[in-house]
Amino acid sequence: MRTIIFFIALIYPVLSVANTAEISVTKRSADAYILTPAYATNIGLFNTANGVVLLDPMPGENQLNALNSLVNSIFAKPVSYILNTHTHSDHSGGNAYFIAAGSEFIQSAAALADFDSVTVKSHTANDAIFWHKPSNTIFVGDIYTTNWHPTFYAGGVAGFVAAVDAILNVGDEHSLIVPGHGAPSDKQQLKLFRQNTLQWVAQVKVLREQGLTAREIKDHAEIQRILRTFNPENNADFIPPPAVARFIERTLTVIEKGI
Ligand SMILES: [Zn+2]
Repeated sequence: MRTIIFFIALIYPVLSVANTAEISVTKRSADAYILTPAYATNIGLFNTANGVVLLDPMPGENQLNALNSLVNSIFAKPVSYILNTHTHSDHSGGNAYFIAAGSEFIQSAAALADFDSVTVKSHTANDAIFWHKPSNTIFVGDIYTTNWHPTFYAGGVAGFVAAVDAILNVGDEHSLIVPGHGAPSDKQQLKLFRQNTLQWVAQVKVLREQGLTAREIKDHAEIQRILRTFNPENNADFIPPPAVARFIERTLTVIEKGI
């Protein structure tokens, strides 16, 4: 894969305020790109026999104008179809912008010959996994992230394991796995993420059974160690403490529900 090629910076003199939107561009093949606004969602852009397909456009007018310019500069064609891995606004908030310009939102990729898709319940009750076959790239939404802790709140542990299995069953060992957020990855890294996530849940459960409070669990050395495994890029500003506390609370909820 040819990785980050360039950054695009567009300045809009709106209301005499200069707004800058930066989107990093990763070329997977002549027909498949990963576009990533700063600190945001991984967006898929594909040139297919059915037209240009855009996956998970994020919200924000300045970023959307930059994204639209980028699409035109890469494929010189408007977006025909929009796909979403799930309904959260950071993956679907740009739909309306492109629909207003004539694109069509489609619930599934069944009509698109270049894609296979699977639906699972893990991060949300309805998570779609999209495999772009010509470039062997799998977009998995927030079932998997490489710059944040796991978020398996809708499907619990069983749903998460089933979702990861569904991803592993698509494509082959050379597939590029594009998480909802963070650097693209591969199936080996995804398997590690699954292992670390299961360790996390097991460790939280053990500490809760030992009578530790959520705060004590947060400060526990083994919990801190497992948490660091969710930061493979070693980002300095990884998960702030309040978010870790919330992650523990939500993990406890999943454990109590037994899902
Ligand atoms: Zn999400």
